[in-house]
Amino acid sequence: MIAWTIQRLLAWITEYLTKNGVDAPRLSAEMLLSHVLGLKRIELYTQFDRVVEKDALDRLHDLVKRAGLHEPVAYLIGRTGFYSLEMEVTADCLIPRPETELLVQRAIEFLRTREGQQHVCDLCTGCGCIAIAIAKGCPNARLVATDLCDKALAVAAQNVAKHGLQERVELLCGDLFDPLVPQLDATQWDLIVCNPPYVSAAEYETLDKNVKDYEPPTALLAGADGLDLYRRIAEQIDRFLKPDGALLLEIGYSQGPAVRDLLERTALFATIAIEKDHQNQDRIVIARRTGDGEDAGPLLSDGSV
Ligand code: GLN
Repeated sequence: MIAWTIQRLLAWITEYLTKNGVDAPRLSAEMLLSHVLGLKRIELYTQFDRVVEKDALDRLHDLVKRAGLHEPVAYLIGRTGFYSLEMEVTADCLIPRPETELLVQRAIEFLRTREGQQHVCDLCTGCGCIAIAIAKGCPNARLVATDLCDKALAVAAQNVAKHGLQERVELLCGDLFDPLVPQLDATQWDLIVCNPPYVSAAEYETLDKNVKDYEPPTALLAGADGLDLYRRIAEQIDRFLKPDGALLLEIGYSQGPAVRDLLERTALFATIAIEKDHQNQDRIVIARRTGDGEDAGPLLSDGSV
């Protein structure tokens, strides 16, 4: 009988996932194996010759089979990394994407240019990754994060607690700005961020199996053209954003011009910039509201803020 050492298992799982067309097969193999053994990934390499026991092998076998059918590894192990922070995830929320880290980075940069306590609102928070990463990066920020889905918010609550941010990140269940209305007398927001659902009905059909078959459609789909949420945000933003505050949105790669147009029509913003992600695709919109008494002036269309 073969002794299944860590080394042998890693090679076998990697090969199996490769054959089944799974992305990042070696990394996925390491994540599944370290999860089952309760080890850090690096520890797999310091214990290469360790023989894995039968009950661990059985659990591993089930997870590898599911990963081979393209169930996302983040769901199988219940967590993922985002902005160097560990986030818990379940199939009730979208898995944080690396592209979204750019939105967090720009949010933190914006907040650091401002003095005093900053009020930040994160719409469609899902597992809470954006709100949590911003709170971690900006000790002077207080955040309210909303989501329509109470199951996703339960995951966000676990993540807020995991990172010790209960004092600064408040979670509210409801559609976009709706849960904020009772608080409106208290404040408007310095920064509003949102990674909404933005996939069009046609594009949804073309998504990879790991996304389409496993991630919640309500976190992805946004009407025939994928712009529904941006429309609704543009309609309501006037009430919620402070003068000289900023709106930061994640967008689909082809949505830049349409989202710019929606925001320009509000006549609220002094500048609207669209920024590309690491794949050189339009991904982030940064719109800066005109300050009190400041003339909106001409909108900059050259990508500068
Ligand atoms: N970028 C995500 C995807 O491709 C979509 C995220 C979203 O709709 N917010 O799967």
